[in-house]
Amino acid sequence: MSDQPGQLVIISGPSGVGKSTIVPLVLSHFRGGLVPSVSATTRPPRPGEVDGKNYHFLSAAEFRRRLTEGEFLESVEVFGRGHWYGTLKDEVIPRLRRGVWVMLEIDVDGARRVLDEYPSALTIFIEPSSMHELERRLRARKTDTEEAIQRRLTVAAEEMQRAGEYRYRVVNDTIDGAVAEICSVLQDRGLRPTG
Ligand code: 5GP
Repeated sequence: MSDQPGQLVIISGPSGVGKSTIVPLVLSHFRGGLVPSVSATTRPPRPGEVDGKNYHFLSAAEFRRRLTEGEFLESVEVFGRGHWYGTLKDEVIPRLRRGVWVMLEIDVDGARRVLDEYPSALTIFIEPSSMHELERRLRARKTDTEEAIQRRLTVAAEEMQRAGEYRYRVVNDTIDGAVAEICSVLQDRGLRPTG
């Protein structure tokens, strides 16, 4: 399955590290040559999030049905007894076949599973400049309860310990710097900018 003309790019990093700001900027640099895989999730939309754009927001029953049908490339329950997230094969496989690069923004367990199937995937881990900075960002977002923030910080610390499993590590000191670094990795690997 890994000998498709397109390339998979996996981006991970703790919640609040700035992925949702960085990723669209990277995508805009490559226009249609690199497209995002829209994940499915059972978590409710945050204010401003759009179904089909940020995520495919599914009920737990619908998620389970698709899982049983084998529609997911990978899926995980993130944050203990929380919500399910998963990458739909339909978001990925047809594009890779057409030679389009596909970006997955998924957690470290999902990344590991995708790598089993696509060992040539480019893996990039985005790190905060410090845990203190990460906590500041999570609080500034004002979208989570205190309990959720604490959970995200615990998960973040665990994820950071696995950053070494990734081929590239990018510290988000500044958004522009992180975007430039990721774009240059992708160009080095043969993706052509279209801007
Ligand atoms: P959030 O709820 O902040 O949008 O995302 C929480 C976490 O779920 C993030 O670490 C994000 O990377 C991860 N995530 C989002 N979509 C997927 C997916 O399809 N698969 C996996 N494994 N993780 C995902």
